[in-house]
Amino acid sequence: MFGRGPRRSNNTKYYEVLGVSRTATQDELKKAYRKSAIVNHPDKGGDPEKFKELSQAYEVLSDPDKRQTYDQYGEDALKEGMGGGGGDFHNPFDIFESFFGGGIFGGGGSSRRRRQNRGEDMVHSLKVSLEDLYNGTTKKLSLSRNVLCPKCKGKGSKSGSSVTCYGCQGAGMKVTTRHIGLGMVQQMRHICSDCRGSGKVISDRDKCQQCRGNKLTQEKKTLEVHIEKGMRDGQKIVFEGQSDEAPDTITGDIIFVLQLKKHPKFRQETDDLFVEHTLSLKEALCGFHFILTHLDGRELLIKSKPGEIIKPGQFKAINDEGMPLHQRPFMKGKLYIHFNVVFPESGTLSPGQCSTLETILPRSPSKHLSKKELDDCEETILHDVHNMDDELRQRKRLQQQQRQRREAYDEDDDDPSMPRVDCAQQ
Ligand SMILES: [Zn+2]
Ligand SMILES: [Zn+2]
Repeated sequence: MFGRGPRRSNNTKYYEVLGVSRTATQDELKKAYRKSAIVNHPDKGGDPEKFKELSQAYEVLSDPDKRQTYDQYGEDALKEGMGGGGGDFHNPFDIFESFFGGGIFGGGGSSRRRRQNRGEDMVHSLKVSLEDLYNGTTKKLSLSRNVLCPKCKGKGSKSGSSVTCYGCQGAGMKVTTRHIGLGMVQQMRHICSDCRGSGKVISDRDKCQQCRGNKLTQEKKTLEVHIEKGMRDGQKIVFEGQSDEAPDTITGDIIFVLQLKKHPKFRQETDDLFVEHTLSLKEALCGFHFILTHLDGRELLIKSKPGEIIKPGQFKAINDEGMPLHQRPFMKGKLYIHFNVVFPESGTLSPGQCSTLETILPRSPSKHLSKKELDDCEETILHDVHNMDDELRQRKRLQQQQRQRREAYDEDDDDPSMPRVDCAQQ
């Protein structure tokens, strides 16, 4: 009683109740409260005393002034500051509802509980490389969002109260009439500009100085987005309740949607990776080896089996070198290699070289033709086709033109006196 300076009562309980450290940030407090309050809610069979304790702890620690008093002098000092008796906390259900909104557990709830709208989610697409998805990474993103003004706690006024809007009589909407001639009047409803639809205004004198009565301020926020190994294109990473805050609104989520950039070498399909590799004709016939640098920088030696011939368009697979599975990154899909075979660009083979090849390669399908057979056939000329796609496009256009010309010619021939026969449909 006669201590040196103010006596100190218990000043750790609130931290213990929420299960946070004494240096916890506002975000950590919010998170801790959300998590505990939802499981301890009496509607969910939680202990009402525990629920009350949680909300008191949160109420004190989330208010910087109260928190400082609590840290310095403890619980009793706060109770004195609140007018003694210690019963001056807010209703724990109101605090809960400011987080989750009324009726979260499906029941109608009591009339005390206000209805709350859910704020919109902020959706961003986040470009990622295949390396990011293969190895996992963290991206720091800073964005700005609206938060309830910390000074007035989103009330907009110093006193914490507001008055009914004069312009709309509290309805939030105004009706204007417009004469549109002939004695007709058009009525238009629009959101009241004085109160921006809230039905309440704050007098100039009472406006919060920090937000000038807007209830909101901007906050720059840096988010660390953890892209886990094996995540996929289109996968969502959700930051719950981190979107724009607004009065009487449950804060929406910030959602990042992963958007995979095209990779110059690898293509991903579900759990598997695909890579193209071009072999020369000699490599396809006589064997090859090459080094493939994987998405994590490892160098894989890829080599043919002795004596094996690779055909153009052939696939080979390497097990467990595909994409890691999300949340089971030690399990991986396959890596497929698709082989192209290029023939020598130019050059010719001498008759001698050809006969050497003939002794090595399997019998060619073009059999020897007799003089008689040759005499009976017609000679042809092989023309070069450089680009088959272009060739096909040209052919299509040409043939279409020819068909149109033919049809135009046929129509001129049509006899209009001939009766048309329609098929009867039953
Ligand atoms: Zn108004
Ligand atoms: Zn303010």
